[in-house]
Amino acid sequence: MRPALAELRIEPIKRGGLRGRLFSWLVCKRLKWQSESMALDMRPGCERCDRDLPPDQPGALMCSFECTFCADCNETTFKGTCPNCGGALVPRPTRTGAALDNFPASTKRIYKPID
Ligand SMILES: [Zn+2]
Ligand SMILES: [Zn+2]
Repeated sequence: MRPALAELRIEPIKRGGLRGRLFSWLVCKRLKWQSESMALDMRPGCERCDRDLPPDQPGALMCSFECTFCADCNETTFKGTCPNCGGALVPRPTRTGAALDNFPASTKRIYKPID
């Protein structure tokens, strides 16, 4: 005997409701996780001369691996090329206000003097 057609019909997923709320909660979690894992370290100082490089001020340069240097070391020595990986050094974007509160800058100092 064939089951009645009504029993085979799949209930359409209602927007909103518990399922919808669970879904948006998962999306939020994922976005937060993504932005945390993708956010820049914002390293606290130049890796060559150990000068402070505050996250909310321009003047820091970094490569794709986030090797971080000050503008002076770049101008006098590196001239736009990372000494560690050979990639381009570009101005690091600043992080200010609420973004800095939510995603604090790294405090791990990396200092590798080159002589
Ligand atoms: Zn420096
Ligand atoms: Zn590099």
